[in-house]
Amino acid sequence: MRARILIVEDEASIRQMVCLALGQAGFECIEANDVNEAQTTLLAQPPDLILLDWMLPGVSGVEYARRLRQEKLTRDIPVIMLTARAEEEDKLRGFDSGIDDYLTKPFSTRELISRIKALLRRSAPHTGETTVELDGLQLDPSSHRVTAGGKPLALGPTEFRLLHFFMAHPERVHTRERLLNDVWGENVYVEERTVDVHIRRLRKALADSGHDRHLQTVRGSGYRFSHQH
Ligand code: CA
Repeated sequence: MRARILIVEDEASIRQMVCLALGQAGFECIEANDVNEAQTTLLAQPPDLILLDWMLPGVSGVEYARRLRQEKLTRDIPVIMLTARAEEEDKLRGFDSGIDDYLTKPFSTRELISRIKALLRRSAPHTGETTVELDGLQLDPSSHRVTAGGKPLALGPTEFRLLHFFMAHPERVHTRERLLNDVWGENVYVEERTVDVHIRRLRKALADSGHDRHLQTVRGSGYRFSHQH
């Protein structure tokens, strides 16, 4: 299923440029000129991500972002704010509007698309919302809870995402590079040995219940999460 991106922007030329690039990158793009239009579209079918212009006629992008965070339906939809000037970045940081990322105009569509991809991965897409289970180990993405034999496990956010990725893609060997791309996001620059550090922490957390045996090192290749042990 193609991810739906809603762009709320009153400048038609920017809207069209972004939608063209999104379409080429395999996304479905929905356009809205202002907050009213955005709201109508959103209620019909919530998008997977919203690109929101700061300066809009009527209700501003910042105000709308705040409203989106207050509604149950839209609270978890990632928002990237598009700002006109670099000085707005500082204001943006000061606002507690709950946006996930922002880009200053003019921006490259390549940069925009890589930010979108990273955010969509981080925000656990609709396909990954179901509880996964293996050998008494249960992970519920919607409540961010992990239990082993019914007992809650405390995991850091990175260990949680790692475990989720492994459990959603078992029996396959994942290289460190692949894990960095899919768990950390492709425009986050961390060294490959960072993966090993978090794998060690994850193993430690899983050791009490013995589930660490499922997380296997494949020499020279990477890691695998397997039913076999
Ligand atoms: Ca504008």
